[in-house]
Amino acid sequence: MTHKWSIGLAAMLATLLSAGAYSEPAATAADVTAKRLLHAASEPSQWMTYGGNYEEQRFSGLKQINRDNVKQLGLQWFADYDTNLPQTGTPLYIDGVIYVSTAWSKVYAFDARDGRTLWEYNPKTPGEWIRNVCCGIANRGIAAWNGKIYIGTLDGRLVALDAKTGQEVWSTLTIDKDKHYSITSAPRIAKGKVLIGESGGEYGVRGYISAYDAETGKMDWRFYTVPANTTGPFENAAMKKAAGTWSDQGLKLGGGGTVWDAIIYDPVTDLIYFGTGNGTPWNDLYRDPTTGDNLYLASIIALKPETGTYVWHYQTVPADTWDYDATSPMTLANLTIDGKKHRVIMQPNKNGMFYILDAAKGTLLRASPFTDVNWNDGVDMKTGRPRIKPEARFPLGKPFNLSPGVQGAHGWQANAYSPDTGLLYVPTQQAYFPMVADANFTPNPVGYNLGLDFTAPITFYSTHPNEKQGFSGYVQAIDPVSGKQVWKTDQNQGPTGGALVTASGLVFQGGGSAQEVRAFDARTGEKLWRAEVQTAVLAPPISYELDGQQYVAFSVGGNTLGGYYAPNYSRMLVYSLSGTAQLPPEQKFTPLPLDPPPSTASADLIDAGSKKYTEYCAACHGDRGQTRGANFPDLTRTPMLHTQEGFDTIVLKGVLSVKGMASFATVLTPEDTHAIREFLIKRANDVKNAAPPPGAPGAPAVSQPHQ
Ligand code: CA
Repeated sequence: MTHKWSIGLAAMLATLLSAGAYSEPAATAADVTAKRLLHAASEPSQWMTYGGNYEEQRFSGLKQINRDNVKQLGLQWFADYDTNLPQTGTPLYIDGVIYVSTAWSKVYAFDARDGRTLWEYNPKTPGEWIRNVCCGIANRGIAAWNGKIYIGTLDGRLVALDAKTGQEVWSTLTIDKDKHYSITSAPRIAKGKVLIGESGGEYGVRGYISAYDAETGKMDWRFYTVPANTTGPFENAAMKKAAGTWSDQGLKLGGGGTVWDAIIYDPVTDLIYFGTGNGTPWNDLYRDPTTGDNLYLASIIALKPETGTYVWHYQTVPADTWDYDATSPMTLANLTIDGKKHRVIMQPNKNGMFYILDAAKGTLLRASPFTDVNWNDGVDMKTGRPRIKPEARFPLGKPFNLSPGVQGAHGWQANAYSPDTGLLYVPTQQAYFPMVADANFTPNPVGYNLGLDFTAPITFYSTHPNEKQGFSGYVQAIDPVSGKQVWKTDQNQGPTGGALVTASGLVFQGGGSAQEVRAFDARTGEKLWRAEVQTAVLAPPISYELDGQQYVAFSVGGNTLGGYYAPNYSRMLVYSLSGTAQLPPEQKFTPLPLDPPPSTASADLIDAGSKKYTEYCAACHGDRGQTRGANFPDLTRTPMLHTQEGFDTIVLKGVLSVKGMASFATVLTPEDTHAIREFLIKRANDVKNAAPPPGAPGAPAVSQPHQ
């Protein structure tokens, strides 16, 4: 009996050992733990969190693909998404599975060996929710933790999915559904909590960040970024302090200051950092006519992870009036500055300034322009305050051609930082926008609240033809300590994609409207590899290793120049040194003709239509009635310009609400929609008579999104 038992045990042990059961337990799906995240650098084969590691450096330790062999990169596999909308999501790679979020906050899990779909998740967001969304039906990413995948949905839910099956484990509403909030950003995980912010700063909301228990979905804490009013009661001392920098007029519209992109956790300082967005309305003249700074708009804020208690803040722009969100991606690193070692936060900001802050204290260490900046004359390094040019505040009747314009010098596109080269790789935008104060601003309960004339680009540049205009994107490598540009790529029309850098000295990046994926030498910027991908590439790539082979994965999609009506190719593309797959040929496409009826309406009617258009339509359809990338149709080409009845079927009766175009009957009358249609007819005729086709030399700049 004993003998038999011993033989059985020995056999069992032998089986277990040969299967490696003791040294390497069978992994469960998305088995991401605190230990693994803290030591992400020791597992370069994985991409377990949004920025690759807690520091969000987007630095891959893999070296198999290098400067010498990168030209051999070929497509290993691809997988189509069920949408033709632009893609902005960073994929995750965990133990053989790629997880990625797509437009409409959907999630896919792919077998990383062959691209087979393991599961799909659709949160079934109501189409009309995009009335609350400023900048596209985007989702920038997901988080993984302890067998679950977390996503924030466009309509404000935070959802935990079983990583093995894609089934919902829990779902929590993070917003007041009666307000115009949305979520487009990636959740982050710190100390067993899921951190998530909200968007909606153009629509009259009060910004905040929340922490939820990752296992149960129960809210642990919430930190508002602006006070509810000036008189209290206040949630905390930070709100009381902020209230002294506001008038009630601005706070009545919600204040703004949404936390719509960057959130990072630093295990070294044990603090959470995030950026806050613009105020509501943008124009400070209408938000707060007093001289207050409007804390904590346009700020970087540090909190304690357990409690959400305020620790420090740095306001990049006091009393912002230019939509200069401080929400752009942030990167943590160890730098020596002026002879002293610092743990730092780096942020190339939407306002064109590259900030370096001491992560423990929030002290400003560097502030240098990284693109054409004309709103300040530098930053006072003692107080941290920018020296703002008075004319840049565009007083009523005095337009100012702003650079960077409201499109921003840097959006949500991720930076990459290499500890080897010491360089930060920054997707950059050169953008101009004429700021013209709206002489007749009234707060709007449903549409945009800007307080400026959003049709100004039409009129301003026609009367100021020598002013700089346009919008282009490129990547530049910046030495953070000196603030100097080391190299830059060519500039393309429209935004460019987020970046990844590897230990083998390569920067991988999608070329935005250039419709290619590519690799550069991280030290020199020499372009070493490119592949055509039939669509724009905006989301940052990741790298991972499986069965001894290194891969680079791009989530692509975004028809930034072809517009809404063009076919698009939204996909996961995975490259390796042995890949030989081919994409199917592109579909034939004939653009909708620019064929408006003649414009016969009175100037008054067209002007009335222009005003309503700015309030209710421009957010999605662009400041000139033309496209906002591929998210929304170019209304100068819609066949509905020929029929008021057809136009009203969409605008007042909501027949396209499934696609996100809900009825505006609660805020627009048939007289209003008639005026809007006449405005669009006039615009279409103007565009047609402007002659050169879009993109051709001399063509008017294509309308581009702000952030
Ligand atoms: Ca904004």
